[in-house]
Amino acid sequence: MNVSQIVRQHIRRLYPKTVILLYHRVAECRLDSEQLCVTPQHFAEQMACLRKHFNVRRLHNLHRWDTNSGIVVTFDDGYSDNLYHALPVLEEYDIPATIFVSSHYVETDTSFWWDVLAATLLAAPIVPAQLTIMLQGQTYHYETSSEGERLQVYRKLLEKAHYLNASEIEQFVFDLRQWAALHHWQDGWGRPLALSELQSLAQSALIDIGAHTQKHLNLAHQSRTVQSAEIQLGRQQLQTWLNRPITSFAYPFGFPSLHYNADTIRAVQAAGFLRACANQEGWVTWRSDQFQYPRYLVRDWNGDEFMEHLAAWFAA
Ligand SMILES: [Zn+2]
Repeated sequence: MNVSQIVRQHIRRLYPKTVILLYHRVAECRLDSEQLCVTPQHFAEQMACLRKHFNVRRLHNLHRWDTNSGIVVTFDDGYSDNLYHALPVLEEYDIPATIFVSSHYVETDTSFWWDVLAATLLAAPIVPAQLTIMLQGQTYHYETSSEGERLQVYRKLLEKAHYLNASEIEQFVFDLRQWAALHHWQDGWGRPLALSELQSLAQSALIDIGAHTQKHLNLAHQSRTVQSAEIQLGRQQLQTWLNRPITSFAYPFGFPSLHYNADTIRAVQAAGFLRACANQEGWVTWRSDQFQYPRYLVRDWNGDEFMEHLAAWFAA
């Protein structure tokens, strides 16, 4: 029995479940420290598998009492490559997808803060041998002369950045850019969608746009007021730009307790969203909380590897 037969057997035999897939970027990435890039070739192979073997649905058509199993495709953050590399493939295979966009980066045409961190520490060709940086009133000194040291510093700062508020993040990004003398974004690194690109993407009948806050902060470390503002304003900006109701939300970083809490869920409901996606693994069944839909993160797998993962996820 081959993998697709095993998958089909599971779908038939078990009670209906839906798997929500989580993507970020579709591109040939020069820098992919978190392994969130899927190449256009692999993405096409993956979408071909979905079209051939699965019932692909839209996120807003997902109901807990569905009698059929299915798959939903989602993207987080709002990278410009979603328009140039993902959309043509989605159109070729007629696959709908929801793209969760952090509005501040569209509005300001600035890079995502984690990409600046990666670019300065892992990709900038020449950087000083030490980095001194102030975070939340504390000064940190790091050795940065070797690649290994810079990777360690990258990991440490990535963790620390989760505790920062919006103005601290802004300062942090500014300081890193100054340190690495990195002032211009360069081709090959992730670029957020520009407003005109977001509007083009949203024009496709296959694409639904969801909200992903304004600035993509770790909401679990923000006050209730900041959480509500991040959630509400992110939604309002998208609605204004796209002239349509935005009803789906995805939690930045997406893990319960670590990245969002009960206050966050209440704020998402109060803002008028009808559903929300998290990042913990699992499938959607009648027991799922529609404000914490689980998702499976897809890596840069070829079609066969992708099918093996789907088989495991449906069998889990
Ligand atoms: Zn995100």
